[in-house]
Amino acid sequence: MEFDENGEAVDPQGRRGFLERFIHAEVYRKRPDAMAVVHSHSPSVVVFSITKIPLRPVGHTSSFLYKGVPVFDIRSVEPASNMLIVNNKLGRALAEALGDASVVLLRGHGYVVLGDSIPNVVSRAYYTEVNARLQRDAMTMGSDIVYMSDEEGRHTSETVEPGMDRAWDLWRAEIGPIN
Ligand SMILES: [Zn+2]
Repeated sequence: MEFDENGEAVDPQGRRGFLERFIHAEVYRKRPDAMAVVHSHSPSVVVFSITKIPLRPVGHTSSFLYKGVPVFDIRSVEPASNMLIVNNKLGRALAEALGDASVVLLRGHGYVVLGDSIPNVVSRAYYTEVNARLQRDAMTMGSDIVYMSDEEGRHTSETVEPGMDRAWDLWRAEIGPIN
């Protein structure tokens, strides 16, 4: 389906759009560098949205998290919401919380990630979940954790992300044709 800049279907043809399409509309409006946006409810990431422990890059494939991972609490806009981003006002507040980062968490709900292409954003969505698992596992081991520095994150993402096309090709081959 094609949507306009406010998240409304251009020609719905009787189809019902996704409830949370306003996430995409407002992230695209706020971030001209966003060429693709993924919203996910991936469970390991949600854990970091309900605790005060920030999600930080611990593995090289998730180095793009070095810009920080803010948490958007919908309660700051709607005291008694249904937890979903169902209008432009909530979408705008979420996009504000995202700021210049690549990923923003939605408290008790999921996360939103942007990228410069569909392969890039799918890879980022997947490796955000992987990072959450790694960081959570490390936290159970009772040792201090060595996080990636901002400089390491920037250098690593510049080097590693262009090569993620290979993972995209493998994922596509694994899934096969989509009708
Ligand atoms: Zn959602």
